[in-house]
Amino acid sequence: MDIASACLVGCKCRYDGEAREDKRVKQMYERGELRAVCPEQLAGLRAPRCPSEIAGGDGNDVLEGRARVAARDGGELTRQFIEGAQKTLEIALACGARRAYLKSKSPSCGCGRIYDGTFSGKLRNGDGVAAALLKKHGIEVVEI
Ligand code: SF4
Repeated sequence: MDIASACLVGCKCRYDGEAREDKRVKQMYERGELRAVCPEQLAGLRAPRCPSEIAGGDGNDVLEGRARVAARDGGELTRQFIEGAQKTLEIALACGARRAYLKSKSPSCGCGRIYDGTFSGKLRNGDGVAAALLKKHGIEVVEI
């Protein structure tokens, strides 16, 4: 079974306490084809919460210790984001997932483009922490 960002199937787990439901992903979930996961909630972060972005790189850089995850209020969340990514990977491997449908631009789930760490709405190239770790283990990430 593949996995998907929980906010895409209607879970109100985003930093703003809302979901970003995607019709196609929700339909796959309702057909029992997907397991929903939220890396940030798996790390114990609650919704709503202060928004966070990767500073100084992307998810690969966070995993390699070259960048950090910071909340807008200045809080340090690097450890939690790595933990959430690792738990997401464990679930994906346990499900035998070959593909992950992940929410775009997120510092956890983003694929290809993420917010640039300045909290200004600007994007940079790169993956979120969970997306990067899934890709490292051969799981195809589909940006939604
Ligand atoms: S971490 Fe991923 S699943 Fe959780 S709210 Fe953010 S984008 Fe959605």
